[in-house]
This record gives sequence, C-alpha cells and structure tokens, in this order.
Amino acid sequence: MSEVLQATDIAKTLEIFEIGKENKGTSTGSYWFSSGEIISSWSPVDGECIASVQTTSEADYEVVVKTAQEAFKEWRMLPAPKRGEIVRQFAEVLRHYKKPLGKLVSYEMGKSLQEGYGEVQEMIDICDFAVGLSRQLHGLTMHSERPGHRMYEQYHPMGIVGIISAFNFPVAVWSWNTALAWVCGDVCIWKPSEKTPLTALACQKLIAGVLEKNELPDGISCLINGDYKVGEFMTEDKRIPLLSATGSIRMGKIVAQRVASRLGKSLLELGGNNAIIVTPDADIKMTVIGAVFGAVGTCGQRCTSTRRLIVHEDIYDTVKDALVTAYKQLRIGNPLDENNHVGPLIDKQAVEKYSAALEKVVSEGGKLLVQGGVLEGAGYESGCYVKPAIAEGNNDYEIVQEETFAPILYLMKYAGDVSDAIEIQNDVVQGLSSAIMTNNLREAEQFLSYAGSDCGIANVNIGTSGAEIGGAFGGEKETGGGRESGSDAWKVYMRRQTNTINYTTELPLAQGIKFDIL
Ligand code: NAD
Repeated sequence: MSEVLQATDIAKTLEIFEIGKENKGTSTGSYWFSSGEIISSWSPVDGECIASVQTTSEADYEVVVKTAQEAFKEWRMLPAPKRGEIVRQFAEVLRHYKKPLGKLVSYEMGKSLQEGYGEVQEMIDICDFAVGLSRQLHGLTMHSERPGHRMYEQYHPMGIVGIISAFNFPVAVWSWNTALAWVCGDVCIWKPSEKTPLTALACQKLIAGVLEKNELPDGISCLINGDYKVGEFMTEDKRIPLLSATGSIRMGKIVAQRVASRLGKSLLELGGNNAIIVTPDADIKMTVIGAVFGAVGTCGQRCTSTRRLIVHEDIYDTVKDALVTAYKQLRIGNPLDENNHVGPLIDKQAVEKYSAALEKVVSEGGKLLVQGGVLEGAGYESGCYVKPAIAEGNNDYEIVQEETFAPILYLMKYAGDVSDAIEIQNDVVQGLSSAIMTNNLREAEQFLSYAGSDCGIANVNIGTSGAEIGGAFGGEKETGGGRESGSDAWKVYMRRQTNTINYTTELPLAQGIKFDIL
C-alpha cells in the first residue's frame, strides 16, 4: 500500500466522523465544549500528528456531571427494554461505520486492520448481548420465614458510571461498560486514554446521533478527555457511585484506594502476565499458532497477551525449534497493510520499555532465542516498530514477574507432572488469563479445578488472548477482580434491593422476636 493512498484514506476516514485538525474533547451527547489544555494524537503507524484535542477542565467537568445527573433522572424512567432499543439502534450505526471506525482504531492505536475491525465487531456483539439483557435484568424470589409475607430482590439503576479506559482497546472497553450500563438505566462519563482521543470522539459522535434522533437527553453519554488528572476528577467524585477503570496495576492501585476512601465501588480490569502450559500431550501445531498469535498479536499489547510459555522438558526442544521457525515468518510493518502480522508499539516510551526488558532478562541470566530489536528505515519512520523476541528464562526473574507491554515471550521448562507447571503459572502477582495445551483429559481437568489455574480466564487448547463477549471477562489477584461483558457482569452496574411484603393483618417479627406494645 503506498503512503499517499494511505494518507488520503485516513483523511477521508476522519472526515466521516467530522474530526478536523483541532477538536473539542468534552461532550455531553452532541454538545461539544472544552477549555482545558491541548493534547495531540500521534499515530504510531507513521509518526504523523493526526489531530489535536482540547481537554476537559475542572469547570467543564462540573457541567458534564450536572448534565449527566439530569439525564439520569429521565433515562432511568424509560423501561429497560426501551433502553435496549436505543442500544440496538447504536449497534446498527456501528455496523454501518464498522470499516471507517476500525480503520481509525488501527491507525491511531497501531493494531492490525483485522484487529481494528474485530474491535468494532466486539462493540456490536456486546450491544446485541445488551439488547437481550434489557429483558432479563431479573432478581430472585425467596420464601419468607413469616407467614403471609413475600420476599424478593430487584435491581435498580445506580446513577453515573465513570469509565476510564486504556489505549490498547480504545473503543471496545468503553462499549463493554456502556452497553450494559445503559440498559441497566445508568448514564456514562468516559475518559479514554490520552493516547487515543480521536477514536473516542468518533464513538461519541455516533452515539450522540442516536440519542438526538430519539430526543433523549444529552447526558446519557458523556466524554471527557485528558490524562490521569482528568481521571482523578472522577476518582474523587462522590457523585460517581461506580468507576470502571481499565489499565495498569499501578493505576488500579491508586484508583482503588481513592474510590474506596469515599466508599464508592470500583470495577478494575488491570494488567496480566499470562501463560500457556504445554504438556507432553499437546498438539504442537496448535500450540505454536496459539502461542505466536498470543505473543505477537497487537504487538504484545493485549492485557491477555501470552507472556510466558511453560513447556514440559520432554517436548521443550521441539516447541522451541517450531517457535523460532514461526517467528522467522513474521512480517512487521504498517498494520493497515493486511499482509503484515505485527504493527508498531504505541509510542517511543513503549519501545524504551521493550528494549530495557530485553536487556534486563539477559542481565538476569536469560538467553535470547529470537533477538528482537528496534526497526529503522523505510516504513519504520515512526520509531515504534520492534521485532518480536523470545527469551529463555526462569519464572522468578524480576522481569518475568512484570508485565512488559511488548512482544516478548519468555520460554521456560517444567519437569514432573502438570501440577508443577500450574505452580509455576500461578507464581506471579497477576491473575488474568491462562491456558493449557493438552489432549490429556486428566491434565485439562486438573488445570481447570480448584487446585488449578488461579486466573479469571482458563482455557484448554486455545491461547490466552481473544475473549468472546458472552462470558464475564476479568482477572484475579493484582489484575483487580473486576468482571465485565457477558454472563452476570451486569449486576455490578445496578444497586440490589431486597423487598419484603406483608399481606396479612399481623406484624410478626423476624427470628420470632416478641415486641408486644398494643
Ligand atoms: P495506564 O494505566 O497507563 O492508563 C490507563 C488509563 O488510566 C488512562 O486513561 C489513564 O489516563 C488513566 N489513569 C492513569 N493514572 C490514573 C490515575 N491516577 N487516576 C485516574 N486515571 C488514571 O494503562 P495503558 O498503558 O493505557 O494500558 C495498558 C495497561 O492496561 C496494561 O497493563 C494492560 O494489561 C491493561 N489492560 C487491562 C485490561 C483488562 O481488561 N484487564 C484491558 C486492557 C488493558
């Protein structure tokens, strides 16, 4: 793909979303205003400054919250299936704009075009899920211990849901939260990553159109832009009963403490250090495909990226050789060119962290099996393209214990049985995704048992990355414990109320307590 063609193409894409060179980054529905500092969006694809965005000041934030509060009063009165209808219309709009939005995701964030489209598809999928959910926000009924009494529980809308998202899934994470929060009757304020503000503007424009067409209040969907300082407006704000924050463990620890100090709720989706266990009964071809996609897809910048491969000593050399051969086939370059497998890292800071991690693993005694390195020259002018690397190392190396958000795969051996491999796998602070490659039923079941993987996600014969929206998504330990997306993750967006109704003429007390006054 020639550069000229690509630049024209992206300019057209920006026009579709009415994104100019200078933009306001604060919005309630279709009303745009901002008075904060200016940030720029740099594409890691070609190093171009795509556009600038004026961020949200504290005064702007006040307007946003007040508008959201007003909108909540109206939105919660709409029956849930009617709210689902709005989400259904949004899914239709997303279907229509899937290609341009996917392209913008790819260009602004640097993931492959296929993954950019996939991210928008994930938004459509969660909206479809939420539409069905809008008729299933059910509670339980239970038998009362008192005669003539009825007990049940119900779920009510909560208020404003704050959403802080990371750069690597610039649009999908927002939709996982909003699609559910909206059908639950909540309104949302979104602070996207300061590294990907344009895709957020595009999303806000799409939902604003739907709200306007249905004559619904502006504050149902709000956007605030800026770095951590803008995020802090929400962590400190008692008017935000639930703050959903996706990002690094470092960020999660700060957000969790601040929100807890005001007794608010937080939903945390933080870093992972995901491993695949490869047992002697594994299908090697499937293992290699799963491990390579997991390690290099999105240039190693998925929370579920495969970072550790724990291989039984009997098949270690076979797996090692197959991986090294597969890495030689990888094409690294412009992610908008569908012939390439690996695009750039998000920015030069990420490249520095990647290089430092490779130095560190060697200094700790590791051996580089696939060297890695920063790419230079034609096509790599942004300075963000790196070669995926494989390092042999031990699980207890400091660098292996950390999540380096880059395509570095650590290969390690285990001896003994699958419980030895599980012990290594669990011996990190993170607990997001995990997998085992085996055709042995006993090994698979042990991995999935209470004595098995301690992660929020545990897969058999597929890799660690790429989750469907139908299941609840999230991780344990320092990954934060939050659950988003499918299953019953919706419950966190609502407040639960237990109701007891007495339809007799007596007033018996629970636990048989006597209190006779009349
Ligand atoms: P990051 O922690 O640097 O930033 C994430 C978001 O938090 C940004 O919007 C940022 O502005 C905001 N933020 C940072 N400090 C804050 C503070 N003190 N108060 C309020 N907001 C603050 O993360 P990143 O580099 O954008 O994303 C990569 C990280 O996100 C990785 O660790 C990855 O594993 C994680 N991630 C996790 C999931 C998941 O579902 N578990 C999904 C995607 C990304």
